[in-house]
Formats: sequence, structure tokens, C-alpha cells
Amino acid sequence: MSAEETGKISVETENIFPIIKKWLYSEKDIFLRELVSNASDAITKLKKIALSEEFEGGNDYKIDLNFDVDQRILSIEDNGIGMTSDEVKKYINQIAFSGATDFAKQYQNADNKAEIIGHFGLGFYSSFMVSKKVTIETKSYKKGQTGVIWSSESGTDFTISPINKEFRGTKISLYLDGDSGEYLDKWKLKELIKKYCDFLPVGIFVQGEKANREKPLWSEEPAKIKEEEYKDFHSYLFPFSGESLFHIHLNVDYPFRLQGILYFPKLTHELEASKNGIKLFCNHVFVSDNASELIPQFLTILKGTIDIPDLPLNVSRSYLQNDPLVKKISNHIIKKVADRLIDDFKKNRTKYEENWNDISLFVKYGVLTDEKFYDAMKDHLIFKNSEGGYSTTSEYLEKNKEKNQNKIFYANETEMGSVYMELLKSQGLEAILVDSKIDSHLIQHLEMKNPDWKFQRVDSEIADQVVDKEAQDQLVNEENKTESDRIQNLFLSSLPTEGVEVKVEALKSIEVPGVILLPEFMRRMSEMNSMLNREDTKNILKSHTLMVNSKSPLVKSALQAFEGVNPEKGKKLARAIYDLSLLSAKVMDEKDVSEYTKRTTEFLQEIFSS
Ligand code: ADP
Ligand code: MG
Repeated sequence: MSAEETGKISVETENIFPIIKKWLYSEKDIFLRELVSNASDAITKLKKIALSEEFEGGNDYKIDLNFDVDQRILSIEDNGIGMTSDEVKKYINQIAFSGATDFAKQYQNADNKAEIIGHFGLGFYSSFMVSKKVTIETKSYKKGQTGVIWSSESGTDFTISPINKEFRGTKISLYLDGDSGEYLDKWKLKELIKKYCDFLPVGIFVQGEKANREKPLWSEEPAKIKEEEYKDFHSYLFPFSGESLFHIHLNVDYPFRLQGILYFPKLTHELEASKNGIKLFCNHVFVSDNASELIPQFLTILKGTIDIPDLPLNVSRSYLQNDPLVKKISNHIIKKVADRLIDDFKKNRTKYEENWNDISLFVKYGVLTDEKFYDAMKDHLIFKNSEGGYSTTSEYLEKNKEKNQNKIFYANETEMGSVYMELLKSQGLEAILVDSKIDSHLIQHLEMKNPDWKFQRVDSEIADQVVDKEAQDQLVNEENKTESDRIQNLFLSSLPTEGVEVKVEALKSIEVPGVILLPEFMRRMSEMNSMLNREDTKNILKSHTLMVNSKSPLVKSALQAFEGVNPEKGKKLARAIYDLSLLSAKVMDEKDVSEYTKRTTEFLQEIFSS
């Protein structure tokens, strides 16, 4: 090429630039991201060539941003691969404009403007969002090439001519338009570089000052990274969030490319929907703080980076939702996360149990919301048991196989020291500890998935194992009125009738006169349904069963008095037994307690004054 050439790109494109300029106005910052990532690409390409071809690259790769306030010029210069004159014609004129035509056709009415650029190779042309004139001065790395200058004032007409350019690489000069003076500012430029280009693998300088961190740790070989580097990287990304528990390094080449580092945060409280936990990158260029279209919701509590080079730089929601690649990526991440947890479970159970407090909410939430994660994790869900250790459901069932007929007894923290637990423990039985709101959902879910797993709250029914079978038979086999009937009669005539059922059993332990049983179903309802107000919950708990222990001396005394010399006293004692049971079941409200206190005071008074 020896002389100046001019040209018009195509008829349709004349309509495009006004559209781009207008539509993308609010997001015009992204022009810088597009141009700097092009510069970085050009350098990466040259580095690759240097590995294979007869080209002795260099070690001075860099990107320079400079501006001149008086002339209103902002330039972005790289020492990468450069372009020959044919390449400029091909890559800048033809390809971009065929993309631009598509753009104009498909997105006339789109409202997600900023997400469009990049889909159609419009990256370079975003420079016209802020410029009245753009020039490209470039020289290919190839031997014997001269420099080329491409220039366009409208974006639709261009001139191209040879120039003397000393060094290989590309310099883009933007003659900023009247509305874009804000980019003639070092702080503004540095801020944008930090946001979008912090991890581009080449130094970026603004008026000579280094503006990015460079090292994208996720692209390095996991085996070569020290633990300390992972930690540093975490605190660089999330300066105020403390240490993480552990991390997963994602590194896939096939069938899709995916790299990233995910950190497990320490989580002691309820699931905090952590925003901006995972930063999404495309070829080291920051795309978004919101990876929720890409990974299932439960994973968004993780922190870290995900880089998917094959996603277009701007990822629109509708695009992601319809992309089969996204489903594959999501499944891969789920699998990696589960693998990491299972690995600890198998190889380092102690550590797994130590971390459980922090990760359990996350794991449980994942199990509840994601089928694949459930399949992977269901046998690795552990529960604290009444013995102080941890067991999975299967381990619990195996251990208690002989005694508890496939039932999994469970209790919450306060119930662990209750009468019910004492009854169970006296028979050598264990219960698992449930301790968060999510557990009632989890139990429901596990039962649904595993029909032979039956969870039973310790206070919902008296376990068969604590009933004295022989005494029980006698209790009901006596002639005429059985003892059971007589006790029931006593209690029914002593208690407030509404909602309370009376059941008589002979328990192995004589220390317990009675216990309140709350129907499993009602109890779960009240716990799961946080929509219920206090009043409703209270009413649910008001209908319950009083289980009376026929072997308790106290019950025997009450019956004796009732059927003998002092029926009134017998009834009062029965009422007192009921009150004690209510107390240990913790279902009394304030009013109940004050009535109880009054009643008991009177009763005691009566006993000691007679
Ligand atoms: P994309 O980056 O998606 O290919 P762009 O519009 O950003 O689309 O760039 C079009 C093409 O122009 C690039 O693919 C590349 O071949 C060429 N190009 C742009 N900037 C440079 C640069 N700084 N150095 C070398 N080539 C470049
Ligand atoms: Mg580009």
C-alpha cells in the first residue's frame, strides 16, 4: 500500500452509529474496557506466537493510556501483535460492520443496551460513543511491514494510509466529543481500569502510573500456587470479610473453558444472601458482580472469581438463560463443590466436622434446592447427636438398628436435657440434634426422598422402646374397668377438656409421672411456617396428648385418693401432674404460668394445713 485509500463501509451502517451513540450513552464507560481488552488480546496473541514461531518477543509488554487535555485526545497504546493494512481492512472494516448490521437488525428495540456490545464484535466501535474522530496507528509484528493509519470521523467513512511507525503494536487515539471530557482525568481512568481491567495479565499505565494488579491467580496452575497466595488473593478481593474456610480452584479446558477460585466463607448465622460474592470475568476482563444467572442460588453465598472466556464480554440475561453451555458450567461447578466437601468427609472427617457449623446452612440449602447437589451430598449430611458426636442418617440408623426400628429421633438444643431425652437415654437410645429453621424443611425433604427414613421428634410420641411391655399388657387386660381406664377417667375429670387427650402407658422408668406429646405433624407445621403468628403457634401447641405413666407412684397415689377418701385431692394431684408435664414441655405461656403458680400455691397450702 502506497497511497491513501478511502471508502464507505456499507449502506446500512450509516444508521448504526447514531443508534449506538444514543442507546449506549449511559454506559459509555465500557468503551475503555473494550479498547483495553483488545490491546491486552493483542499482547497475549504475540506472547503465544513468541512461544512457537521465530519471533523473539520481548519482556516489556504493556498498555499505555495517555491524554492531552488541550487537544482532547485520549490514546490507548499497546506493543502487541499489531495489524497489517489487510488486517485492518478485514478486522476493523469488514468483520465489525457485518456484526454491526446484525446488531442494527436484532436490537432496534432492545432495552438492555449495555449488554449488546461485544456480541457482534462491536467492541472497537464503542469508541465512537465518546469520540468525534478515531484513529488507529498500527504496525504488525511481521517482518517487512510498514505502519498503517486508519481514521474515521463518522464511523461510516474511513481513510487508510501508510505511515512511519517505529515499533510494532497499535495506538488508538480518541478525539473526544464535547460530552466526554470526563475521560481526560487520571483518577477517572484509573478507577475504570481498576474496575474492569485489574486482572488483565499485562501492566496498564495511566500517564505512566501503574493502574492494575495484573496477576489473575485463577489462571495459574493450581499445583504451583501456595496456600498463602490463595489467602492473599482472597483478602485482596474481599478486604473486609475475614478469612475463608477453604477454597476450590476450578480449572477446565474441555468441553468448555472455565477457570476460577471459589472460597467458602465462614457462616455462623442464618443464610446471609451475600451480594457481589462471585465476580464474573471473561478472559480476565471483569464483566459483572452478579453470577446468579450462571450458578444456582445456593452457590452465590460463595466468594471468588469465575472466568469463562467463551462467553461474550457482555452477557445478557436472556442470552445466558438460553445457553446450553451455561447449564453445563453450572453442573460442573456444583459437582466440584460437592467433590471438595466429600473429599474432606472421606479423608479428614475431623476437619469436616469442625467446619460443619460454618458450612451446614449452605450445604442444607443446596440439598433442598438442587437435585444434583442433593444426590451428591445426601450421605454426607451430618447431625450432631445426643452423645456429643456427629453422624449421618445412615450411620445413626446403623448404630441404633437393633433398638429403634428405623426411626430417627430428633430434638432441638433445649429438648436435649428434657424428660423425653432422659427416657430415651435410659434405654440406650440416641437422638440427633436439629438446630436451625432449615432443619425442619430438611427432615421433610429427606423423608420424601427416602421413604424408609422416618424422623420422629422426641416429644411427639412415646417411643416403643421406653414402654414396659409386660406391665402394659396387665394394664389393659384386667377385667371390668381396666386400670388404664380408671387412670384415664381420673385425668379426664381433672383437666381442662378442650384439646387435651389422655393416654395411659406403663413406662420402664417410674420417675416420670406424665409427659406431653405434641403431634409430629402439627409441630412441623408450626416450625416450618414462619408466617404463623405467635397466637396460631400457641393454639397448635394447645392441642396435645398427656401421656400418663401408670407405673409412677405419684399417679398411683392420685388414683388411690380419687377412688377412696379424698376424690378432690386426687383430682388436684392429677392436675399437678399435668402442670408439671406442661412445664417440662415448655408450652405454657405467661398467663398459664401465673394460673399455675396460683393453683399450686393453693394446693400446697391445702396439703400442709390438713
Ligand atoms: P473482538 O475483540 O470481539 O474481535 P473488536 O471490535 O473489539 O471485536 O475488535 C475487532 C478486531 O480488531 C479484533 O478481533 C482484532 O483482530 C482487531 N484489533 C482490535 N484492536 C486491536 C489491537 N489493539 N491490536 C491488534 N488488533 C486489534
Ligand atoms: Mg474486542
